[in-house]
Amino acid sequence: MTRSEKTGFKGNKSFLPSKVCLACGREMTWRKSWSKNWDSIKFCSDACRLKKSAVTNLGVK
Ligand SMILES: [Zn+2]
Repeated sequence: MTRSEKTGFKGNKSFLPSKVCLACGREMTWRKSWSKNWDSIKFCSDACRLKKSAVTNLGVK
């Protein structure tokens, strides 16, 4: 268990932006790798993005 590592970020994490994944509904916290395109981030992972796009594609085309 590495639970202590997570709680170590508690003070730092509160100001980070977060949003909800459109596919699974889980809250995702800002990541450095998303800093350039945070506004366009809608999914927590590639798996969710593919899952959702597979659904929306039915309606789009
Ligand atoms: Zn997700």
